[in-house]
Amino acid sequence: AKQEGRQGYRFFTPEMQARATRNLLLLNALRHALTLEQLQVYYQPQVSMFDGRIIGAEALLRWRHPALGMVSPAEFIPVAEDSGLILPIGEWVLRSAVRQAKAWQAEGLGSLVMAVNLSAVQFRNRELPDLVTRVLEQEGLAPDYLELELTEGVAMLNPESAIDLIDNLHERGVRMAIDDFGTGYSSLSYLKKFKVYKLKIDQSFVRDIGTDAEDKAIVSAVISLARSLGLQTIAEGVETIEQQTFLNQQGCDEMQGYLFSQPLPAEQFAALLKRSLTI
Ligand code: C2E
Ligand code: CA
Ligand code: CA
Ligand code: CA
Repeated sequence: AKQEGRQGYRFFTPEMQARATRNLLLLNALRHALTLEQLQVYYQPQVSMFDGRIIGAEALLRWRHPALGMVSPAEFIPVAEDSGLILPIGEWVLRSAVRQAKAWQAEGLGSLVMAVNLSAVQFRNRELPDLVTRVLEQEGLAPDYLELELTEGVAMLNPESAIDLIDNLHERGVRMAIDDFGTGYSSLSYLKKFKVYKLKIDQSFVRDIGTDAEDKAIVSAVISLARSLGLQTIAEGVETIEQQTFLNQQGCDEMQGYLFSQPLPAEQFAALLKRSLTI
């Protein structure tokens, strides 16, 4: 009976307690990450299926803490979202990526489209469209070289306001992409109303193309759906030649994944770009 009584007060399992402690630690460290210059943007190439050229880059945030080491964005982005820190951090990523795209253009390394991830919190912020326009103007990048990735899950949380915001950004000339497509249950009627340019096929479907007939069917259905709606497709998480071959056969436009390259620091990305230009 004593034990039951005690259990009644145990709202947290040890695992939940450990997670909460870790999140608090991360939050306190993350508050200073920007000013201490612990954050860095890495870039992963987006490659044309048609001719293998690098036509875009996705900006992916990295956090190296002196004591904690490399912390995965999968772990710290949620902490940044819950605390609102994602607003200054997201603005910093946007500005860094836009500035980098402009710098590569100025160096004659071609005209890449720079893809930047948007979190739900940024998406809900009414000042986002003005912020995006301001950053583009200040950094001198034409809006059609910026692509904003919004996950399907976030778009479908509130589809009506997603339509408005996507419209707004679209009118400003920015390209919109739906990230992690296939995981968020969009209805076709909404997909038609989202003025997006590209669907990004989630890596969970790409991963099992070789072994799972259902995933194969989903991937080819998404590609033909996109085609009939006039949208571009990119597959993420492409790791094998077999996956690439299948995607190519199905008519996928672009790919991104370790098969081609991991996300790289800016200098290494530029070196890869230079090499690909001289081939
Ligand atoms: P995401 O936007 O879906 O990004 C794709 C993730 O897949 C990245 O993980 C990338 O490094 C990884 N990836 C790329 N190619 C492969 C591959 O061939 N195989 C496998 N297994 N993985 C691959 P990363 O960089 O750890 O980012 C995780 C998530 O964190 C991102 O998922 C995104 O949701 C979020 N994130 C990263 N940077 C930012 C950012 O600047 N802002 C926001 N709001 N979220 C970000
Ligand atoms: Ca993404
Ligand atoms: Ca994704
Ligand atoms: Ca994801």
